[in-house]
Amino acid sequence: MINESYKNMLGAKSVIRELSEYATARGKEIGYENVFDFSLGNPSVEVPEEFTKEMIRLLQTENTMTLHGYTPSLGNPLYKENIAKSLNERFGMNYGPEHIFPTTGAAGAIAHALRAVTKEGDELITFAPYFPEYGPYVTGAGVKLSVVPADTKTFQINFDAFEEMMNEKVMAVLINTPNNPSGVAYSSETLTKLSKVLTEKSKQYGHTIYLISDEPYREIVFKGADAPYVSKFYDNTLSCYSFSKSLSLPGERIGYVAVNPSCDGAEYIVPMCGQISRGTGHNCPPSIIQQAVAKVCGMTSDLSVYEINMNIIYDTLQDLGFTVVKPGGTFYIMPKALEESSIEFCKKAKDYDLIFVPADGFGAPGYFRMAYCIDTEKVERAMVRLRQFVKEVYGGK
Ligand code: PLP
Repeated sequence: MINESYKNMLGAKSVIRELSEYATARGKEIGYENVFDFSLGNPSVEVPEEFTKEMIRLLQTENTMTLHGYTPSLGNPLYKENIAKSLNERFGMNYGPEHIFPTTGAAGAIAHALRAVTKEGDELITFAPYFPEYGPYVTGAGVKLSVVPADTKTFQINFDAFEEMMNEKVMAVLINTPNNPSGVAYSSETLTKLSKVLTEKSKQYGHTIYLISDEPYREIVFKGADAPYVSKFYDNTLSCYSFSKSLSLPGERIGYVAVNPSCDGAEYIVPMCGQISRGTGHNCPPSIIQQAVAKVCGMTSDLSVYEINMNIIYDTLQDLGFTVVKPGGTFYIMPKALEESSIEFCKKAKDYDLIFVPADGFGAPGYFRMAYCIDTEKVERAMVRLRQFVKEVYGGK
């Protein structure tokens, strides 16, 4: 018999994917340059030349058996070593290669991290606004996902609601900073407070509450933002990273879990991830990608365009009277819609070929997300269209 729960998931299509497919179809009708598609978080900048060069070098010079053979089940040693070194240098940590587990992007990292520190029937807490894929990631592991409502003033953590929702079944807390969809980075103050609550609650309940820190946008941080390294604040942290956004490699599926060396059970977690892989059929990212990224793991693509785009959009939104929190990073911004229903707002925007995503699915009803990983020239033209839309539909200036 087929599995009904997966079959039932087929009905719930991703709103983002649907909008992106609509934008592509509309582009075929009127020319893609005339569709202002802010739906998808696909990087819009080239991978660093060094990555491409390294791939070519590997293909031309390495022994094919080594290059394409199985990697050790806990990952390519050079990849693990270089990532540990890079994190230590940049964030003052003391990771060894034994604390790094290579994964297929952040999705693979979260799948392993949460299975390592929860079991079926446990509860995991995350904070709105949040990445909707957390639903399947968490419930797919048999764990209950609870979502703390947003602090809509700042999009930092709503601590009152969080403390009320904490209970002894909570084994892990999942955060994402800088955040998709708000673009906000959790401040040092927020992380200090979070660490204090987790330490107190761990003591009260008599078990460790782990912090799973999802940070694929860690390197996309804007001027003046306070966006510290999460694991510095709380020892029981598993950092989930991805090179999808920082090196523009989402299709290559490469990332890692970094286990804080001082966390409870630090010596077991990476080997346990190897065992989790056996059950999920994950078995490490492709060998050649681990080897190539090992050489460029301290680098990023030229990410400057995202901040340029953010400033153009933020200034226009402010000028048009939108309520919006300025992003500290990522390539997302999440303004409040100009009417109660963000779904209606986005539908009306679509008539102007402005493709925005209602943030209801991100746990922020009444808001919408714009992914501005697109050319600046197009962003500028989109702002002209946005002004026209607001004026004609909402009587703005
Ligand atoms: N977490 C967040 C917050 C994301 O935005 C994404 C992708 O957009 C992921 C996880 C998954 O990242 P990856 O594609 O590297 O698995």
